[in-house]
Amino acid sequence: MRVGVIGVQGDVEEHIVAMQQALKTLGLRGEVVSIRRSGIVPSCDALVIPGGESTTLSRLMLREGIFSEVLEAAERGVPVLGTCAGMVLLAKEGDEEVAKTGQKLFGLIDAKVKRNAFGRQRESFEVALKMPAIGEEPFNAVFIRAPCYVSVGRGVEVLAKLESEETFKALNMKKGECIVAARQENVVAVAFHPELTDDLRLHHYFLQNVAKKAP
Ligand code: GLN
Repeated sequence: MRVGVIGVQGDVEEHIVAMQQALKTLGLRGEVVSIRRSGIVPSCDALVIPGGESTTLSRLMLREGIFSEVLEAAERGVPVLGTCAGMVLLAKEGDEEVAKTGQKLFGLIDAKVKRNAFGRQRESFEVALKMPAIGEEPFNAVFIRAPCYVSVGRGVEVLAKLESEETFKALNMKKGECIVAARQENVVAVAFHPELTDDLRLHHYFLQNVAKKAP
């Protein structure tokens, strides 16, 4: 299988390495390619939109003709994993910040995203996150200027959310709906950075449960 990582901006290399590792540990044969121009997306069996700066990512993908290719592939059923900035771009609806920048969203997940959801209180933090879909053991989730989904439609499966009083207290935030991992059919979005830790369970989940159903 061929996994394409959108390579115009963001932590591309880390995603490539993590995905290569995930394929290897699952015993799957495949290659992972970086995508910086149009014409490559149509040959990919799965796609990753990395973390970075969602406005820049969106702009560069549009400029290079990659944006419409990703949309078309996702609509064909090709699995897509978006992390952090990728999670912002996968949403259907943005907050005021998204409206202000005018960044174009894919709208592949029926969700409302809050960009930079953790504000200035915390630029980055880690949480032991419960995510039953990938296993019982909590996932050490690294958040860096992360978004979250504040609401999702009925067709969206919530894979993880921040919910404990202690977490909100530690973040110095008011408790509220804070979905940090979600899936709508072939599209998965996470607010944190699974490519920055050695735990490959989210990648395995994506490759086994989502990418398996690729056309
Ligand atoms: N705050 C960034 C954005 O909304 C995302 C940060 C990240 O991907 N690490 O574009």
